[in-house]
Amino acid sequence: MKRFIAANWKMNLSITEAKALAQKVVDTYESEASMEGSRIMLAPPFVYLTEIAKIVQGSSIILAAQNSADELSGAYTGEVSPTMLKDIGVQMVILGHSERRRLFHESDQTIHKKVLLALECGLDVVLCVGETLEEREAGTFESVLERQLSSALQGIDERMLPKLSIAYEPVWAIGTGKTASCTIANEAHLCIREQLKSRYGTTAAENMYILYGGSVHDKNISELLGEQHIDGALIGTASLKENVFCSIMKG
Ligand code: PEP
Repeated sequence: MKRFIAANWKMNLSITEAKALAQKVVDTYESEASMEGSRIMLAPPFVYLTEIAKIVQGSSIILAAQNSADELSGAYTGEVSPTMLKDIGVQMVILGHSERRRLFHESDQTIHKKVLLALECGLDVVLCVGETLEEREAGTFESVLERQLSSALQGIDERMLPKLSIAYEPVWAIGTGKTASCTIANEAHLCIREQLKSRYGTTAAENMYILYGGSVHDKNISELLGEQHIDGALIGTASLKENVFCSIMKG
């Protein structure tokens, strides 16, 4: 079954809490035969990655970073390069998250550089796109998605696609408790799928994972996953609660 459940812990949890949560996720995955074939990803804060790598090692849980630099090395205080992440066992990176775009002023151009570099360094990428409330109310969500995607995907050819997933995260639904209705989410996912099809062809686009993110929890996950173009979820707040996240993983 094509299903991808991704946790973004953001800047939360103590190291003790993070290790306990990762261990619980590994144990749950291994004890539930029904989850076989599902992709599960954890994105802890940078400083916890090496410890969480030890816990997920040998399991199918994917270890991800929440960001990576747009340069390989050099005088970039506070930055972490994709090669450094790869060296410590990180497999994937979240790029273009709306918090990075909004709070840290990352432009479409910067995100494009980061995506390309991370893929070239052998990391898989979850690329986040999504409109603000003003853009949705102005009826421009399709053009926003088109702009964000066409900028980020420049120079990315079909061979790289198995390493790329897209997360549709309407900014107005992130951390607000407001989930997009299934109809709204599916409509945006369809718009993303159509753009991928026109760029890469039907088969390649159908094979890609498009995740929904924005106030997903254990009560709305089944309904969201029931939509044709929703292949999984990127989860912030609810990924911090052991029982809620494990129940989301089970679907
Ligand atoms: C996110 O930040 O990617 C996210 C979806 O957060 P939340 O689940 O808290 O809305």
